[in-house]
Amino acid sequence: AKRDPGSSYRFYDRQLHISAGYQLRLEADLRNALRGNELELYYQPRIDLATNEVRGVECLLRWNHPERGLVGPDEFIPVAERSGLIVPIGYWVIEQACKRLQESAEIGYPGLVFAVNLSFRQFHDRKMTETIFRIIFNANVDTSLLELELTESAMMHDPEYAQRCLRELNQLGVSFALDDFGTGYSSLSNLQHLPISLVKIDKSFVQALGKSADAEHIIRAIISLAHSLQISVVAEGVETEGQLEFLRQQHCDEIQGYYYARPMPWADLVQFLNKRGES
Ligand code: C2E
Ligand code: CA
Ligand code: CA
Ligand code: CA
Repeated sequence: AKRDPGSSYRFYDRQLHISAGYQLRLEADLRNALRGNELELYYQPRIDLATNEVRGVECLLRWNHPERGLVGPDEFIPVAERSGLIVPIGYWVIEQACKRLQESAEIGYPGLVFAVNLSFRQFHDRKMTETIFRIIFNANVDTSLLELELTESAMMHDPEYAQRCLRELNQLGVSFALDDFGTGYSSLSNLQHLPISLVKIDKSFVQALGKSADAEHIIRAIISLAHSLQISVVAEGVETEGQLEFLRQQHCDEIQGYYYARPMPWADLVQFLNKRGES
């Protein structure tokens, strides 16, 4: 049957086509981005609620695209995961974080923890532990200051291999955080079986505070569970005084969010640290 050129079917088809083309283009650009120095890490401070000091920073990837400008990770990480490019990109991120870790000690901030995100897809690389080990060794950093953040999805593909990776890296001093905690479904057993020293409460719960009583209950439960297992808790996405006060009352250990600081380039972070040091 002949199709009406104006029908919704054609329209939909064209959209799909554009979208697939867009993805391919993005993937090709991303390949160049790594070689062309277009990737950059931003750093978002994490504040210790007991001491009011900056405990560490989360390293967050940004892409300075030559035509599109600054592209956020939600747009290109999925493309990088599907294409496998996240593997080399992920190693670049760890390398860069180690350089900054070294640098932070030189400029007077030793002891700052650097947290790096790991994608589930990086666990498909059979040389993960070995490669990360080489990067850390070459950078000559204090491994206890390197923290790797992973979500529960990282464990799904090959739980035994993933567990082994975590154990081996943990033996070198690297610590692990469970990211987006509360949004997965196997949280409890993971906490028990893996070398996890920290959980990050997902920002969806923090931002529901005051809007849903459930959010309060869930956050209370996460903190009490984590603390009973000697695991620290970071709340992410803290934007308001009210959220901060609630978390403080619940003895949450650390806070990350726009309330204190947005993710920022390295030079801005250095300024941020210097300013806090003066006051
Ligand atoms: P995530 O690991 O859950 O990181 C926290 C996200 O929350 C970051 O978004 C951060 O900018 C944002 N955020 C922090 N505080 C606030 C706040 O107060 N309010 C709001 N609305 N948002 C806040 P970002 O930088 O866009 O990163 C998005 C996601 O991309 C990350 O979520 C992480 O899953 C992924 N990602 C970022 N960098 C990397 C990387 O180097 N490797 C991998 N595999 N994933 C990365
Ligand atoms: Ca994270
Ligand atoms: Ca999150
Ligand atoms: Ca996330």
